[in-house]
Amino acid sequence: MAEIIRSIRGMNDILPEKTPYWQAVETALKEVLTGYGYQEIRFPIVEKTELFCRSIGEVTDIVEKEMYTFADRNGDNLTLRPEGTAGCVRAAMQNGMLNQTQRLWYMGPMFRHERPQKGRYRQFHQLGVEAYGFSGPDIDAEMILMTARLWKKLGLKGISLQINSLGSIEARLAYREVLISYFEANKETLDEDSQRRLHTNPLRILDSKNPEMQALNEAAPKLLDHLDEVSKQEFEALCQNLDDAGLSYEINPRLVRGLDYYGKTVFEWVTDHLGSQGTVCAGGRYDGLVEQLGGKGATAIGFAIGLDRLIALLEAMNSLPKIEKIDAYLVAVGEQASKQSLQLAETLRDQIPGLKLITHCGGGSFKSQFKRADRSGARWTLILGDDEVAKKVIGVKTMETGEQETISWEALTTYLTQ
Ligand code: ATP
Ligand code: MG
Repeated sequence: MAEIIRSIRGMNDILPEKTPYWQAVETALKEVLTGYGYQEIRFPIVEKTELFCRSIGEVTDIVEKEMYTFADRNGDNLTLRPEGTAGCVRAAMQNGMLNQTQRLWYMGPMFRHERPQKGRYRQFHQLGVEAYGFSGPDIDAEMILMTARLWKKLGLKGISLQINSLGSIEARLAYREVLISYFEANKETLDEDSQRRLHTNPLRILDSKNPEMQALNEAAPKLLDHLDEVSKQEFEALCQNLDDAGLSYEINPRLVRGLDYYGKTVFEWVTDHLGSQGTVCAGGRYDGLVEQLGGKGATAIGFAIGLDRLIALLEAMNSLPKIEKIDAYLVAVGEQASKQSLQLAETLRDQIPGLKLITHCGGGSFKSQFKRADRSGARWTLILGDDEVAKKVIGVKTMETGEQETISWEALTTYLTQ
């Protein structure tokens, strides 16, 4: 027998026992976003590699070592999207959407060649949200309040907010020098990754997950102490807005985000309940990106939720949404009954919008069909034999109590809807 072909490591199947939770979570998230005026945008999963190199930055984990890049049959250099912001900006620019404000969201798979582990996959799923043309900080605050509302809607606990400001490009460049001097003075303590980043992307050293780097990073000069005046004021206004809304947060001066395009506001929602992959939602302002990609300057802010982690967290907190069970399972034995069952089911579907009804299909004894009905979790089993067909009635068994009644076909719709 031929060997079964298996999926690619780090790319998971999401099976029917889990998809109802995904659907319920996605629906809840969309409802909140729609309530704030956000509209869906869909853009391709594959883009030119250049788009990601130019936006995410050459010296980032993603571009250095995580992209799925390939030459297509024409020899074009393409990449499976590792995140959505670049593609979203590209689409908005290309379609002339940036001469007015936009509030956009998208949802779908992203691809990064990382070491697969719990909460870190090679195909994972994000809900991305982006707002263009708002200079802030009111939209920054609104966006963060919206994320808090998403958790509220899902009944999610055990997650906390961290914010920081990365300041203007100029402030960041000046701070960069301060930071390089600090790390150079402590060169012997730097791990290999950090040594490599010292002159290419020193801010990323602060983001190191290596525990041996922690003490050094904690004592490092803080970007917040080197902010430009405008960023400082905007950050204060953001904090004030969050305070006014009663939303608690922690200012984390080491929060720098792994992508090059961020400036000013950055934020993350983190949890202790998922082991080391604890960031569920991350985002920030990226005013420079549109120009960097060749467009006319437009301010921008956005965030992405890792849906795999969000659902894992809901599960860990025992807060997965309640999934609606099916209403009825229709069993039919006998030639007439089998034929009639399909008709009857169609009539019920016509008369009861939203009815979740499974017809057995495939024949078999009452006993084997009942077994399936039981396993389906249906509230009622509807039972049709040739005798019932002759009398135009049907057996209705309420599964919870085991009670069974005989109902006429005419009365069935009323019975099932009361
Ligand atoms: P991390 O520090 O965990 O690597 P990141 O900074 O690379 O995260 P972003 O690019 O900001 O992550 O993506 C936003 C969110 O998408 C993350 O907070 C996380 O929830 C999720 N995410 C990122 N990479 C993965 C992955 N490989 N598997 C599952 N979820 C991921
Ligand atoms: Mg990463």
